[in-house]
Amino acid sequence: MKIDLRSDTVTKPTAAMLQAMMEAEVGDDVYDEDPTVRALEEKTAAIFGMEAGLFCPSGTMTNQIAIRISTQPQHEVICDKKSHIYLYEGGGIASNSLASVRLLEGAQGRFTAGDVQEAIQPDNLHYPISAVVAIENTVNKGGGCCYAWHDIEAISQVCKTHGLYYHLDGARIFNALVAQDEDSTRYGMLFDTISVCLSKGLGAPVGSVLLATKERIRQAKRVRKVFGGGMRQAGFLAAAGIYALDHHVKRLQDDHARAKVLADTLLALPYVGMVVPVETNIVIFSLSDQHTAEKLIVYLHEHNVLASLFGKMDVRLVTHLDFDDVMLETVCRTLKNFRG
Ligand SMILES: *Cc1c(COP(=O)(O)O)cnc(C)c1O
Repeated sequence: MKIDLRSDTVTKPTAAMLQAMMEAEVGDDVYDEDPTVRALEEKTAAIFGMEAGLFCPSGTMTNQIAIRISTQPQHEVICDKKSHIYLYEGGGIASNSLASVRLLEGAQGRFTAGDVQEAIQPDNLHYPISAVVAIENTVNKGGGCCYAWHDIEAISQVCKTHGLYYHLDGARIFNALVAQDEDSTRYGMLFDTISVCLSKGLGAPVGSVLLATKERIRQAKRVRKVFGGGMRQAGFLAAAGIYALDHHVKRLQDDHARAKVLADTLLALPYVGMVVPVETNIVIFSLSDQHTAEKLIVYLHEHNVLASLFGKMDVRLVTHLDFDDVMLETVCRTLKNFRG
């Protein structure tokens, strides 16, 4: 059997989750008639202290809808150069929103209020109009690192002062909440839009929820329809999300503990260069050169461990619901036996 650490998206529904899905009460959600989708949207909104939610097929869609309802053509989105919305959404900001991007160079993908302040465009017709600031928490390409709350607050202050929308790409927000033992409801006080993924660490098969005010969710629903994301009896999928919110949040600490063991193992190995400090469930480490990184991926694959090449000479391992202590031991042993 393969041990798949390429991403936390690879998990399959547990028996109990499948049971919850099969028992879901459903209806046509495009007609607003699916009670389970409604329940998921309300539940997720309540967790973050937001008014309303919108269930979508992916985190890319929730992010792209958020940007679309916060911008006009020729506006600018301020985000980090490591951000998912910029790197991994197929250039969607340009094609979906006709907006441009202002890239910041944060520490492991985390920028500060000062960085935002400096990036805001002056009122001059040569420049695009700054419209949205988007942060990611945790930062995928930053090795799953978390934002400090005071930075999140300080950035919000700059957004308020300059009339900018504030978006949170919270694909792994629950990892951040668990790692920092944070109160989720206060997020709603600062952000205009929040995107939450159910199919990463939470282990649901499909889905993300966009959170905002009722009025903005009404606009978002129109955009979702145009993007092809209006789903019918989606309650079967929403039921998995509800189950995940009820049962798979606290256990994220197990994923974090296993990621730390992986990092500690790697730190002691001669062929490993730098290991990005582990805060949550992502381990990114570099090797001496590109050739060794590629060789390690192939070697791991031959030993039934799947890892991702992340950039030229970095490797990424992500822990998740389908990765247990026995597998952890196997992976550590396999890593120790690699001879560069
Ligand atoms: C996975 C991820 C998303 C959404 O990805 P989908 O595959 O479209 O669900 C968004 N942001 C970050 C940081 C992610 O890691």
